[in-house]
Amino acid sequence: MITQFVSIIQATPGLDLCPGPTNQGAAVDRDWSEEHDALRHSLRSYVRAKVTPHVLDWEAAGEVPRSLFADLADLGVLGLRLSPEYGGGGQDFWFTVVLLEELMRCGSIGVPVAVMAHAEFATMLIDRYGAPALRDRYVRGASAGRLVGALGVSEPDAGSDVAAIRTRAVRDGADYVINGSKLYISNGTIADYITLAVRTGGPGAKGLSVIVVPADSHGLRRRRLRKLGTHASDTAELFFEDCRVPAANLLGAENAGFGMIMSGFEGERLVLSVMACSHARLMFDEAREWGHQRRAFGQPVLGFQVWQHRLADVLTRIEAAEALALRGIDLYVRGRPAQSEISMAKLFATETARFAASECAQIYGGLGYMEESLMARLHRDALAMTVGAGSSEVMRSLIARANNLVAP
Ligand SMILES: Cc1cc2nc3c(=O)[nH]c(=O)nc-3n(C[C@H](O)[C@H](O)[C@H](O)COP(=O)(O)OP(=O)(O)OC[C@H]3O[C@@H](n4cnc5c(N)ncnc54)[C@H](O)[C@@H]3O)c2cc1C
Repeated sequence: MITQFVSIIQATPGLDLCPGPTNQGAAVDRDWSEEHDALRHSLRSYVRAKVTPHVLDWEAAGEVPRSLFADLADLGVLGLRLSPEYGGGGQDFWFTVVLLEELMRCGSIGVPVAVMAHAEFATMLIDRYGAPALRDRYVRGASAGRLVGALGVSEPDAGSDVAAIRTRAVRDGADYVINGSKLYISNGTIADYITLAVRTGGPGAKGLSVIVVPADSHGLRRRRLRKLGTHASDTAELFFEDCRVPAANLLGAENAGFGMIMSGFEGERLVLSVMACSHARLMFDEAREWGHQRRAFGQPVLGFQVWQHRLADVLTRIEAAEALALRGIDLYVRGRPAQSEISMAKLFATETARFAASECAQIYGGLGYMEESLMARLHRDALAMTVGAGSSEVMRSLIARANNLVAP
Protein backbone atom coordinates (compact mmCIF):
# COMPACT_ATOMS: atom_id res chain seq x y z
CA MET A 1 0.00 0.00 0.00
CA ILE A 2 2.64 2.46 1.08
CA THR A 3 4.88 1.52 -1.88
CA GLN A 4 2.08 2.38 -4.25
CA PHE A 5 1.58 5.66 -2.42
CA VAL A 6 5.28 6.56 -2.67
CA SER A 7 5.34 5.89 -6.39
CA ILE A 8 2.38 8.23 -6.82
CA ILE A 9 4.22 10.92 -4.90
CA GLN A 10 7.42 10.45 -6.85
CA ALA A 11 5.56 10.69 -10.14
CA THR A 12 3.89 13.92 -9.12
CA PRO A 13 5.49 17.04 -10.62
CA GLY A 14 6.36 19.51 -7.91
CA LEU A 15 7.42 16.74 -5.56
CA ASP A 16 10.63 16.13 -7.44
CA LEU A 17 13.45 16.10 -4.90
CA CYS A 18 15.41 18.43 -7.16
CA PRO A 19 13.10 21.36 -7.77
CA GLY A 20 13.62 23.67 -10.71
CA PRO A 21 15.23 27.10 -10.50
CA THR A 22 13.58 29.54 -8.14
CA ASN A 23 12.13 32.76 -9.51
CA GLN A 24 15.37 34.63 -9.35
CA GLY A 25 17.83 31.74 -9.45
CA ALA A 26 19.31 32.98 -6.19
CA ALA A 27 17.66 33.51 -2.82
CA VAL A 28 19.88 36.45 -2.02
CA ASP A 29 19.75 38.58 -5.14
CA ARG A 30 22.70 40.76 -6.16
CA ASP A 31 24.91 41.47 -9.15
CA TRP A 32 26.64 38.15 -9.42
CA SER A 33 29.95 38.08 -11.33
CA GLU A 34 30.87 35.57 -14.02
CA GLU A 35 32.98 33.76 -11.41
CA HIS A 36 29.96 33.34 -9.14
CA ASP A 37 27.87 32.16 -12.07
CA ALA A 38 30.49 29.60 -13.07
CA LEU A 39 30.62 28.29 -9.50
CA ARG A 40 26.83 28.16 -9.37
CA HIS A 41 26.68 26.27 -12.64
CA SER A 42 29.17 23.56 -11.64
CA LEU A 43 27.65 23.19 -8.18
CA ARG A 44 24.14 22.89 -9.59
CA SER A 45 25.20 20.02 -11.86
CA TYR A 46 27.07 18.34 -9.02
CA VAL A 47 24.18 18.62 -6.55
CA ARG A 48 21.68 17.35 -9.11
CA ALA A 49 23.82 14.34 -10.08
CA LYS A 50 25.64 13.41 -6.89
CA VAL A 51 23.72 14.76 -3.90
CA THR A 52 19.97 14.87 -4.54
CA PRO A 53 19.66 11.23 -5.63
CA HIS A 54 21.26 10.08 -2.36
CA VAL A 55 19.58 12.41 0.10
CA LEU A 56 17.04 9.87 1.34
CA ASP A 57 19.80 7.32 2.03
CA TRP A 58 21.84 9.90 3.92
CA GLU A 59 18.79 10.92 5.93
CA ALA A 60 18.24 7.27 6.85
CA ALA A 61 21.92 6.80 7.75
CA GLY A 62 21.87 9.93 9.93
CA GLU A 63 25.01 11.30 8.33
CA VAL A 64 26.52 12.45 5.06
CA PRO A 65 29.30 10.27 3.57
CA ARG A 66 32.93 11.34 3.68
CA SER A 67 32.90 11.33 -0.11
CA LEU A 68 30.74 14.49 0.01
CA PHE A 69 33.60 16.41 1.64
CA ALA A 70 36.13 14.92 -0.79
CA ASP A 71 33.94 15.79 -3.80
CA LEU A 72 33.44 19.38 -2.65
CA ALA A 73 37.19 19.67 -2.09
CA ASP A 74 37.78 18.44 -5.65
CA LEU A 75 35.38 21.12 -6.87
CA GLY A 76 37.44 23.67 -4.91
CA VAL A 77 34.51 24.75 -2.72
CA LEU A 78 35.08 23.05 0.63
CA GLY A 79 37.31 25.67 2.25
CA LEU A 80 36.05 28.64 0.29
CA ARG A 81 36.84 31.21 2.99
CA LEU A 82 39.94 29.48 4.39
CA SER A 83 43.45 30.83 3.77
CA PRO A 84 44.96 29.98 0.36
CA GLU A 85 48.39 29.32 1.94
CA TYR A 86 46.77 26.37 3.74
CA GLY A 87 44.79 25.09 0.78
CA GLY A 88 41.68 27.26 1.19
CA GLY A 89 39.96 29.35 -1.45
CA GLY A 90 40.58 32.78 0.10
CA GLN A 91 37.17 33.94 -1.16
CA ASP A 92 34.72 36.29 0.47
CA PHE A 93 31.34 35.33 1.90
CA TRP A 94 29.49 35.80 -1.43
CA PHE A 95 31.00 32.55 -2.70
CA THR A 96 29.72 30.80 0.42
CA VAL A 97 26.27 32.20 -0.42
CA VAL A 98 26.41 30.48 -3.82
CA LEU A 99 27.59 27.22 -2.25
CA LEU A 100 24.79 27.33 0.31
CA GLU A 101 22.05 28.16 -2.17
CA GLU A 102 23.06 25.33 -4.46
CA LEU A 103 23.45 22.76 -1.67
CA MET A 104 20.02 23.77 -0.35
CA ARG A 105 18.48 22.60 -3.63
CA CYS A 106 18.99 18.98 -2.58
CA GLY A 107 15.99 19.38 -0.26
CA SER A 108 17.78 18.29 2.93
CA ILE A 109 19.12 20.97 5.27
CA GLY A 110 21.29 18.34 6.94
CA VAL A 111 23.63 18.39 3.93
CA PRO A 112 24.63 22.09 4.06
CA VAL A 113 24.65 21.93 7.88
CA ALA A 114 27.29 19.17 7.79
CA VAL A 115 29.40 21.11 5.27
CA MET A 116 29.11 24.42 7.14
CA ALA A 117 29.77 22.90 10.58
CA HIS A 118 32.99 21.56 9.12
CA ALA A 119 34.31 24.37 6.92
CA GLU A 120 32.79 27.51 8.38
CA PHE A 121 32.19 26.81 12.06
CA ALA A 122 34.95 24.40 13.14
CA THR A 123 37.81 25.27 10.80
CA MET A 124 37.45 29.04 10.44
CA LEU A 125 38.49 29.54 14.08
CA ILE A 126 41.61 27.39 13.62
CA ASP A 127 42.49 29.34 10.50
CA ARG A 128 42.01 32.67 12.28
CA TYR A 129 43.68 31.95 15.60
CA GLY A 130 45.75 28.75 15.28
CA ALA A 131 49.55 28.52 15.21
CA PRO A 132 51.09 27.73 11.77
CA ALA A 133 51.59 24.02 12.61
CA LEU A 134 47.92 23.66 13.63
CA ARG A 135 46.73 25.46 10.51
CA ASP A 136 49.01 23.34 8.35
CA ARG A 137 47.50 20.18 9.77
CA TYR A 138 43.84 21.04 10.21
CA VAL A 139 43.08 23.85 7.75
CA ARG A 140 44.96 22.05 4.99
CA GLY A 141 43.34 18.72 5.85
CA ALA A 142 39.89 20.33 6.05
CA SER A 143 40.23 22.16 2.73
CA ALA A 144 41.32 18.94 1.03
CA GLY A 145 38.39 17.01 2.48
CA ARG A 146 40.77 14.61 4.25
CA LEU A 147 39.69 15.70 7.73
CA VAL A 148 36.21 16.59 8.96
CA GLY A 149 35.66 19.06 11.79
CA ALA A 150 33.02 19.93 14.39
CA LEU A 151 32.61 22.94 16.66
CA GLY A 152 31.92 22.08 20.31
CA VAL A 153 30.55 25.00 22.32
CA SER A 154 27.10 24.07 23.73
CA GLU A 155 26.81 22.04 26.91
CA PRO A 156 23.96 20.55 28.94
CA ASP A 157 24.00 23.63 31.20
CA ALA A 158 25.34 26.27 28.81
CA GLY A 159 23.66 26.92 25.46
CA SER A 160 22.63 30.53 24.87
CA ASP A 161 24.82 31.56 27.80
CA VAL A 162 28.23 30.67 26.35
CA ALA A 163 30.05 32.31 29.29
CA ALA A 164 28.60 29.61 31.58
CA ILE A 165 30.59 26.78 29.96
CA ARG A 166 31.88 24.24 32.49
CA THR A 167 34.00 21.77 30.52
CA ARG A 168 37.39 22.33 32.08
CA ALA A 169 40.90 22.04 30.65
CA VAL A 170 43.74 21.95 33.16
CA ARG A 171 47.36 22.36 32.10
CA ASP A 172 49.53 19.35 32.97
CA GLY A 173 53.08 19.57 31.58
CA ALA A 174 52.92 19.69 27.78
CA ASP A 175 49.20 18.79 27.73
CA TYR A 176 45.77 19.96 28.78
CA VAL A 177 43.56 17.44 30.56
CA ILE A 178 39.89 17.95 29.68
CA ASN A 179 36.83 16.90 31.70
CA GLY A 180 33.19 17.69 30.94
CA SER A 181 30.65 17.25 28.16
CA LYS A 182 29.18 18.92 25.08
CA LEU A 183 25.70 18.65 23.62
CA TYR A 184 24.05 19.06 20.19
CA ILE A 185 27.36 19.03 18.30
CA SER A 186 26.89 18.89 14.51
CA ASN A 187 29.30 16.39 12.87
CA GLY A 188 30.08 15.24 16.42
CA THR A 189 30.38 11.53 15.65
CA ILE A 190 31.86 11.77 12.15
CA ALA A 191 34.45 14.48 12.92
CA ASP A 192 38.22 13.89 12.99
CA TYR A 193 38.75 16.95 15.19
CA ILE A 194 36.65 19.11 17.46
CA THR A 195 37.29 22.82 17.89
CA LEU A 196 36.36 22.87 21.56
CA ALA A 197 35.42 25.68 23.93
CA VAL A 198 36.80 24.97 27.41
CA ARG A 199 37.22 26.71 30.73
CA THR A 200 40.88 27.30 31.57
CA GLY A 201 40.43 30.18 34.01
CA GLY A 202 37.91 31.58 36.48
CA PRO A 203 34.16 31.97 36.03
CA GLY A 204 32.55 33.98 33.23
CA ALA A 205 33.64 34.99 29.74
CA LYS A 206 37.23 35.78 30.72
CA GLY A 207 38.02 32.18 31.71
CA LEU A 208 37.36 30.51 28.34
CA SER A 209 39.78 29.12 25.76
CA VAL A 210 39.47 27.20 22.50
CA ILE A 211 41.49 24.05 21.84
CA VAL A 212 41.56 21.55 18.95
CA VAL A 213 40.83 18.01 20.13
CA PRO A 214 41.71 15.12 17.79
CA ALA A 215 38.72 12.78 17.77
CA ASP A 216 40.89 9.74 18.48
CA SER A 217 42.11 11.26 21.78
CA HIS A 218 42.00 8.88 24.71
CA GLY A 219 39.17 9.86 27.09
CA LEU A 220 36.76 11.16 24.42
CA ARG A 221 33.46 9.30 23.96
CA ARG A 222 30.71 10.23 21.51
CA ARG A 223 27.03 9.42 21.30
CA ARG A 224 24.79 10.20 18.34
CA LEU A 225 21.54 12.02 19.14
CA ARG A 226 18.20 11.41 17.43
CA LYS A 227 16.52 14.56 16.13
CA LEU A 228 13.19 15.82 14.85
CA GLY A 229 14.71 16.89 11.51
CA THR A 230 17.95 17.69 9.62
CA HIS A 231 18.50 13.95 9.67
CA ALA A 232 21.41 13.89 7.21
CA SER A 233 23.43 15.94 9.68
CA ASP A 234 24.94 13.91 12.48
CA THR A 235 24.47 15.53 15.90
CA ALA A 236 26.24 14.25 19.01
CA GLU A 237 26.83 14.41 22.70
CA LEU A 238 30.54 14.36 23.61
CA PHE A 239 32.03 13.18 26.91
CA PHE A 240 35.54 14.08 28.06
CA GLU A 241 37.06 12.04 30.88
CA ASP A 242 40.70 12.94 31.59
CA CYS A 243 41.08 13.55 27.88
CA ARG A 244 44.70 14.57 27.22
CA VAL A 245 45.40 17.01 24.38
CA PRO A 246 48.73 18.69 23.48
CA ALA A 247 48.93 22.27 24.81
CA ALA A 248 50.14 23.27 21.33
CA ASN A 249 46.55 22.68 20.15
CA LEU A 250 45.32 25.77 22.01
CA LEU A 251 44.15 28.57 19.73
CA GLY A 252 45.78 31.90 20.58
CA ALA A 253 46.27 32.85 24.22
CA GLU A 254 44.81 31.06 27.24
CA ASN A 255 41.52 32.63 28.43
CA ALA A 256 41.03 34.58 25.17
CA GLY A 257 38.46 32.12 23.81
CA PHE A 258 35.22 34.01 24.39
CA GLY A 259 36.09 36.70 21.82
CA MET A 260 37.10 33.99 19.32
CA ILE A 261 33.78 32.19 19.71
CA MET A 262 31.87 35.46 19.36
CA SER A 263 33.88 36.42 16.25
CA GLY A 264 32.73 33.19 14.59
CA PHE A 265 29.07 33.82 15.35
CA GLU A 266 28.62 36.58 12.74
CA GLY A 267 29.54 34.22 9.89
CA GLU A 268 27.46 31.40 11.42
CA ARG A 269 24.41 33.64 11.69
CA LEU A 270 24.75 34.74 8.08
CA VAL A 271 25.03 31.10 7.04
CA LEU A 272 21.76 30.41 8.89
CA SER A 273 20.16 33.49 7.28
CA VAL A 274 21.01 32.34 3.76
CA MET A 275 19.94 28.76 4.48
CA ALA A 276 16.63 29.99 5.89
CA CYS A 277 15.94 32.22 2.85
CA SER A 278 16.74 29.38 0.43
CA HIS A 279 14.68 26.93 2.44
CA ALA A 280 11.68 29.26 2.51
CA ARG A 281 11.93 29.82 -1.27
CA LEU A 282 12.07 26.10 -1.85
CA MET A 283 8.94 25.57 0.23
CA PHE A 284 7.18 28.46 -1.52
CA ASP A 285 8.02 27.07 -4.98
CA GLU A 286 6.79 23.62 -3.99
CA ALA A 287 3.59 25.00 -2.43
CA ARG A 288 2.79 27.16 -5.46
CA GLU A 289 3.27 24.22 -7.81
CA TRP A 290 1.06 22.05 -5.63
CA GLY A 291 -1.57 24.77 -5.30
CA HIS A 292 -1.89 24.95 -9.09
CA GLN A 293 -2.13 21.18 -9.48
CA ARG A 294 -4.26 20.05 -6.58
CA ARG A 295 -7.98 20.40 -7.16
CA ALA A 296 -10.76 20.71 -4.59
CA PHE A 297 -14.43 21.58 -5.17
CA GLY A 298 -13.80 21.57 -8.91
CA GLN A 299 -10.92 24.04 -9.04
CA PRO A 300 -7.19 24.30 -8.23
CA VAL A 301 -6.57 25.10 -4.56
CA LEU A 302 -4.87 28.30 -5.73
CA GLY A 303 -8.21 29.27 -7.26
CA PHE A 304 -9.30 30.13 -3.71
CA GLN A 305 -8.35 33.68 -2.81
CA VAL A 306 -7.45 32.65 0.72
CA TRP A 307 -4.54 30.61 -0.67
CA GLN A 308 -3.46 33.34 -3.06
CA HIS A 309 -3.24 35.67 -0.06
CA ARG A 310 -1.53 33.20 2.25
CA LEU A 311 1.19 32.46 -0.29
CA ALA A 312 1.45 36.18 -1.11
CA ASP A 313 2.22 36.74 2.58
CA VAL A 314 4.85 33.99 2.51
CA LEU A 315 6.51 35.48 -0.57
CA THR A 316 6.48 39.00 0.89
CA ARG A 317 8.24 37.81 4.03
CA ILE A 318 10.79 35.87 1.98
CA GLU A 319 11.61 38.98 -0.06
CA ALA A 320 12.00 41.01 3.14
CA ALA A 321 14.21 38.31 4.70
CA GLU A 322 16.39 38.23 1.60
CA ALA A 323 16.77 42.01 1.68
CA LEU A 324 17.90 41.86 5.33
CA ALA A 325 20.32 39.01 4.59
CA LEU A 326 21.73 40.92 1.64
CA ARG A 327 22.31 43.98 3.84
CA GLY A 328 23.98 41.95 6.58
CA ILE A 329 26.27 40.13 4.14
CA ASP A 330 27.19 43.34 2.35
CA LEU A 331 28.27 45.03 5.61
CA TYR A 332 30.08 41.90 6.79
CA VAL A 333 32.01 41.47 3.54
CA ARG A 334 33.05 45.14 3.63
CA GLY A 335 34.28 44.71 7.21
CA ARG A 336 31.75 47.18 8.63
CA PRO A 337 30.12 46.76 12.07
CA ALA A 338 27.04 44.65 11.43
CA GLN A 339 25.95 42.96 14.65
CA SER A 340 22.51 44.56 14.63
CA GLU A 341 21.89 43.89 10.92
CA ILE A 342 23.18 40.31 11.09
CA SER A 343 21.03 39.62 14.16
CA MET A 344 17.98 41.04 12.35
CA ALA A 345 18.75 38.95 9.26
CA LYS A 346 19.13 35.77 11.31
CA LEU A 347 16.01 36.48 13.37
CA PHE A 348 13.76 37.40 10.47
CA ALA A 349 15.00 34.81 7.95
CA THR A 350 14.74 31.86 10.34
CA GLU A 351 11.34 32.95 11.68
CA THR A 352 10.21 33.39 8.05
CA ALA A 353 11.30 29.84 7.26
CA ARG A 354 9.20 28.61 10.21
CA PHE A 355 6.21 30.65 9.03
CA ALA A 356 6.65 29.48 5.44
CA ALA A 357 6.93 25.87 6.62
CA SER A 358 3.64 26.05 8.44
CA GLU A 359 1.77 27.76 5.57
CA CYS A 360 3.29 25.66 2.80
CA ALA A 361 2.68 22.38 4.61
CA GLN A 362 -0.98 23.35 5.16
CA ILE A 363 -1.69 23.76 1.44
CA TYR A 364 -0.55 20.16 0.93
CA GLY A 365 -3.32 18.87 3.17
CA GLY A 366 -2.69 15.32 4.41
CA LEU A 367 0.19 14.83 2.01
CA GLY A 368 2.19 17.49 3.87
CA TYR A 369 2.11 15.23 6.92
CA MET A 370 3.30 12.09 5.17
CA GLU A 371 6.87 10.98 5.79
CA GLU A 372 7.35 10.26 2.09
CA SER A 373 6.59 13.79 0.95
CA LEU A 374 9.30 16.37 0.46
CA MET A 375 7.15 18.99 2.16
CA ALA A 376 7.05 17.01 5.41
CA ARG A 377 10.86 16.99 5.49
CA LEU A 378 11.11 20.67 4.57
CA HIS A 379 8.60 21.48 7.30
CA ARG A 380 10.45 19.80 10.14
CA ASP A 381 13.89 20.87 8.87
CA ALA A 382 12.78 24.50 9.18
CA LEU A 383 12.34 24.26 12.94
CA ALA A 384 15.93 24.09 14.23
CA MET A 385 17.11 27.28 12.56
CA THR A 386 15.47 29.58 15.10
CA VAL A 387 17.56 27.88 17.82
CA GLY A 388 21.04 27.11 16.39
CA ALA A 389 23.81 29.76 16.26
CA GLY A 390 21.87 31.93 18.72
CA SER A 391 18.12 31.66 19.27
CA SER A 392 15.52 34.22 18.13
CA GLU A 393 15.31 35.48 21.72
CA VAL A 394 19.07 36.01 21.86
CA MET A 395 18.91 37.81 18.47
CA ARG A 396 16.24 40.15 19.83
CA SER A 397 18.40 40.89 22.89
CA LEU A 398 21.38 41.71 20.65
CA ILE A 399 19.22 44.00 18.50
CA ALA A 400 17.89 45.70 21.63
CA ARG A 401 21.39 46.22 23.01
CA ALA A 402 22.76 47.55 19.70
CA ASN A 403 19.90 50.02 19.33
CA ASN A 404 19.79 51.55 22.80
CA LEU A 405 16.63 49.75 23.84
CA VAL A 406 17.95 48.48 27.16
CA ALA A 407 16.98 50.60 30.13
CA PRO A 408 20.04 51.56 32.23
C1 LIG B 1 20.29 20.93 15.08
C2 LIG B 1 21.21 21.63 16.03
C3 LIG B 1 22.58 21.69 15.75
C4 LIG B 1 23.45 22.31 16.64
N1 LIG B 1 24.80 22.30 16.37
C5 LIG B 1 25.66 22.82 17.29
C6 LIG B 1 27.07 22.74 17.07
O1 LIG B 1 27.55 22.25 16.04
N2 LIG B 1 27.90 23.21 18.04
C7 LIG B 1 27.43 23.77 19.19
O2 LIG B 1 28.23 24.18 20.02
N3 LIG B 1 26.08 23.86 19.42
C8 LIG B 1 25.20 23.40 18.50
N4 LIG B 1 23.84 23.47 18.72
C9 LIG B 1 23.36 24.03 19.98
C10 LIG B 1 22.74 25.42 19.86
O3 LIG B 1 23.72 26.38 19.61
C11 LIG B 1 21.96 25.65 21.15
O4 LIG B 1 20.87 24.75 21.15
C12 LIG B 1 21.49 27.08 21.29
O5 LIG B 1 22.58 27.94 21.51
C13 LIG B 1 20.47 27.22 22.44
O6 LIG B 1 20.98 26.69 23.60
P1 LIG B 1 20.09 25.66 24.49
O7 LIG B 1 19.59 24.62 23.57
O8 LIG B 1 20.90 25.23 25.64
O9 LIG B 1 18.86 26.51 24.96
P2 LIG B 1 18.82 27.49 26.23
O10 LIG B 1 19.97 28.43 26.17
O11 LIG B 1 18.67 26.68 27.47
O12 LIG B 1 17.50 28.28 25.94
C14 LIG B 1 16.21 27.72 26.17
C15 LIG B 1 15.18 28.76 25.75
O13 LIG B 1 15.34 29.94 26.52
C16 LIG B 1 15.55 31.05 25.70
N5 LIG B 1 16.49 32.00 26.30
C17 LIG B 1 17.76 31.76 26.66
N6 LIG B 1 18.33 32.90 27.12
C18 LIG B 1 17.38 33.87 27.04
C19 LIG B 1 17.35 35.25 27.33
N7 LIG B 1 18.43 35.88 27.81
N8 LIG B 1 16.20 35.92 27.13
C20 LIG B 1 15.09 35.30 26.65
N9 LIG B 1 15.06 33.97 26.33
C21 LIG B 1 16.20 33.28 26.52
C22 LIG B 1 16.12 30.50 24.41
O14 LIG B 1 15.89 31.37 23.32
C23 LIG B 1 15.36 29.19 24.29
O15 LIG B 1 14.11 29.45 23.70
C24 LIG B 1 22.95 22.90 17.82
C25 LIG B 1 21.58 22.88 18.08
C26 LIG B 1 20.71 22.26 17.20
C27 LIG B 1 19.25 22.23 17.51
